[in-house]
Amino acid sequence: MTSIGIIGTGFGGIGTAAELLTHGYDDVRLWERADTVGGVWRDNTYPGAACDVPAPLYSFSFAPNDDWSRRYPGQAEILGYLRRVADQYGVTRRTRFGARVVSARWVDETWRVTFDDGTVETVDVLISAVGQLSEPSAPDVDGWETFDGTVLHAGAWDDSADLAGRRVAVVGTGASAVQIVPRLADVAAELVVLQRSANHILPKPDGGYAHWYRDFAPGERRPIDWITQQFSRGLDPDSAVATTIERLAATHLRVRVRDADLRRHLRPRHQVGCKRILFSNDYYPTLTRDDVHLVPHALTEVRSDAIRTTDGVWHAVDAICFATGFDTQDFLHGIEIVGPGGDLHDTWSAGARAHLGIHVPGFPNLFLAYGPNTNLGGGSIITMLEAQARHIRATLDRMRHRRLRRVEATPAAEQRWDDRVQHELAHSAWASCTSWYRHPETGRITSNWPGGTWAYEQVVADVHDEEFLWT
Ligand code: NAP
Repeated sequence: MTSIGIIGTGFGGIGTAAELLTHGYDDVRLWERADTVGGVWRDNTYPGAACDVPAPLYSFSFAPNDDWSRRYPGQAEILGYLRRVADQYGVTRRTRFGARVVSARWVDETWRVTFDDGTVETVDVLISAVGQLSEPSAPDVDGWETFDGTVLHAGAWDDSADLAGRRVAVVGTGASAVQIVPRLADVAAELVVLQRSANHILPKPDGGYAHWYRDFAPGERRPIDWITQQFSRGLDPDSAVATTIERLAATHLRVRVRDADLRRHLRPRHQVGCKRILFSNDYYPTLTRDDVHLVPHALTEVRSDAIRTTDGVWHAVDAICFATGFDTQDFLHGIEIVGPGGDLHDTWSAGARAHLGIHVPGFPNLFLAYGPNTNLGGGSIITMLEAQARHIRATLDRMRHRRLRRVEATPAAEQRWDDRVQHELAHSAWASCTSWYRHPETGRITSNWPGGTWAYEQVVADVHDEEFLWT
């Protein structure tokens, strides 16, 4: 019997566990550092948190939900769905909560997993499902520890914080910021939005599902899937899709923001698709409010009662909300992984890489869900996670049928894969600006898959014997 340990209970951990449990793997245990399942959908409780991928696609294909209230449901609804699936598939009861993995070492042909309380568990197979967006990051600016007011981060929101009637700064203008800014503007006395880069923003085709339409909503999955294929590849700047999106975003900006000066600041300077394309109907209108001020500069310094931007201006505020994203380049942050190939973090010092985004040579029986080069510029990450779960299960099936104990990708297969992926990425929009998708020192694009989800599903559908060392 193969014992399997999964780190993390977000979409990746729950989906992989469900795949294994429904295919005859009974000894599956999950470890979760928090006290409930849910991953980013448990942690990102900031006002306005919602998904920018339509729900019929942002759900497991094996657990369709015909009860979504709207096309782009909020965080609580998605979390509720995820918890139901985890309960239904027996994932919750197999999870040890409050269990933070600090290290995993390959000893005597097994993974010896150590937790922050000093306890140790041993498994034959280790699966990381910690995600790429689980460690909130904030700019390292002078003086922020001297700030007397409230400090919040979108990725680890404190629900008890009361911002009513206060002067609030939102730092950042990415996917989290465009959701949080309209909600905070409604409660704060004054809102300052610090923008380092303006983004391409499209209208969000959101709407409630009328009762009569509910039965048809799951049928939206296929057409939406087709549309998102166009977004999810690294947009070729000369493509019709790129031109269309750019024009749509420019028209959206022109229609929503009449003030020419404000509009000028909101015009993106980077190639379309280089940073994530955003969807919002209320972000631009919010920025036109008298009590909301767009500051087109980065944060540089903080003092007890104010923040300073790169133009040297101090802004008096009572609260700072960081919507500055995640530590995306330190894959498996805070977990030491030591295999026959050495320390995984040393292996990845120039940027993370993995065969199919799943296997790392030198680290037998280790599988990654949402590993390097499997993120999307658009489309549903759930499709990618399901493809990875099927691939992991198929690999384990092969081991089971042949009575094998150990599998790892060959360095040659990994190199071929990496050459191919990096070659395609070099011609994508992502190569044209800095973003969270790239390693800060080497510039290597470590996060994204260069194609659509269909292409990825195809490429990981089979387990090719010659790409692995089987023992
Ligand atoms: P993000 O996309 O990394 O955005 C961080 C923002 O902070 C950027 O605008 C960045 O500017 C800005 N920033 C960083 N340092 C700054 C400084 N010193 N001063 C001013 N601005 C600064 O993070 P995010 O918005 O949390 O989104 C991360 C990812 O999470 C998304 O790309 C998406 O994959 C996921 N997400 C998804 C949803 C959804 O609806 N599905 C919602 C939220 C997040 P630069 O652009 O110049 O770096």
